[in-house]
Amino acid sequence: MKYVEKVLENLKKQNPNEPEFHQAATEILSTLSPIVEKHPEYEAAGLLERFVEPERVVMFRVPWVDDSGKVHVNKGYRVQFNSAIGPYKGGLRFHPNVNLSIIKFLGLEQILKNSLTGLPIGGGKGGSDFDPKGKSDREVMAFCQSFMTELYRHIGADTDVPAGDIGVGAREIGYLFGQYKRIRDEHVGVLTGRGLTYGGSLVRTEATGYGLIYITEEALKVRSDSFKGKTVVISGSGNVAIYACEKAQSLGAKVVAMYDSDGYIYDAEGIKLDVIKDIKEVKRGRIKEYAERVKTAKYTEGCKGIWTVPCDVALPCATQNEIDEESAKTLVKNGVKYVAEGANMPSTLEAIGVFQKNGIVFLPAKAANAGGVATSALEMAQSSGRMFWSFEEVDAKLKNIMVNIYHNIDSAAKEYGFEGNYVMGANIAGFMKVATAMMAHGIV
Ligand code: NDP
Repeated sequence: MKYVEKVLENLKKQNPNEPEFHQAATEILSTLSPIVEKHPEYEAAGLLERFVEPERVVMFRVPWVDDSGKVHVNKGYRVQFNSAIGPYKGGLRFHPNVNLSIIKFLGLEQILKNSLTGLPIGGGKGGSDFDPKGKSDREVMAFCQSFMTELYRHIGADTDVPAGDIGVGAREIGYLFGQYKRIRDEHVGVLTGRGLTYGGSLVRTEATGYGLIYITEEALKVRSDSFKGKTVVISGSGNVAIYACEKAQSLGAKVVAMYDSDGYIYDAEGIKLDVIKDIKEVKRGRIKEYAERVKTAKYTEGCKGIWTVPCDVALPCATQNEIDEESAKTLVKNGVKYVAEGANMPSTLEAIGVFQKNGIVFLPAKAANAGGVATSALEMAQSSGRMFWSFEEVDAKLKNIMVNIYHNIDSAAKEYGFEGNYVMGANIAGFMKVATAMMAHGIV
């Protein structure tokens, strides 16, 4: 049996009931055979076995009291996966479906994503099954304070620097930072995505969505194409989706559909982003209100139907496994040419197969959504240097990073004989840097 197959089989045996972790590991390991065959010293050093095992997993109780005085207990997680190339870095997700499998899949992906940015950051991820939706600000604060009262002892500006993810935005980062500062009595860059008045960076809010569009724009450009006049479908209506929509529109694309977890809106005239921002960022409301406010729009219950909307470019920006094989086939049948993943692992393995078989330009999450963590690393650089860069300066660095990622994954795919296969390219390019660092550190 081949080395990667052995490692994968063992991983499934040692980590039963973790389907998302198995899925991410399969996607990654199945592309690494050409590397480990070229480097037999990796097997001798147990490199892959170490790569798929987190350096540390912290699980903890998060008790908090709601507005009626009732006590709740949630689960808290931080998976410190790999620190070979820098301090652990990766977001915190607050969503009721969070479990260890999801946090581990996200952490494993994060190692390679962070490597692809070219910046010195290792991989980690964390979160809780707490649902901020429908909670008062005081309840969210109580939860965040309790979460940080345990987490603070495991993180630090040079150790592990969490950020936001699903359900963790500016409000949550503020409460988490406030509690960290209170306990440790230090004002340091221990979280990214901080507010601009207390150490945050310009462009961090926009970074993942903008970065997604920058890398897709580069993929279009090398094919003598552009976003101008393209019809785009974006799933989700959170941080990543909103700023992907903003940048795509500014480049001349027409975004016609978006969703939240209840249903999707279709607006043939093009989504009015100011209305979406008002509903989602200001009022924390539901997307169906868009159709009540904009007469050209139609609302449909349920999310999956969004992939039946014909488009040139599909940008899944909500959550894992939102495009299955059937949806992928529908997208292809309706003429999609480019799929770029803003969310983490939004396409199932079968869906990726459909895109690749049909010659769709497919940009996987670890490359396409790396702009968020890259800008977090720029926030860390500004914190360390006690500096504050202009919007234009950070945006230019972000764009440069995304363009470089595109060319690096393209070259890696070509070098190993898989031209145009960016899943191979991203995994190989990301893995080589981590593997080289791990080999240099000895068996640790
Ligand atoms: P937000 O919480 O801001 O938005 C998430 C969006 O996705 C919401 O519209 C939400 O709808 C929808 N959504 C979440 N879960 C589900 C679900 N199970 N089914 C259907 N819809 C769902 O999160 P972000 O925009 O920050 O994150 C979106 C994706 O991008 C995630 O996969 C995240 O890991 C990834 N990502 C985020 C980065 C960042 O910088 N924020 C960086 C890199 C990747 P509703 O409000 O109804 O729940």
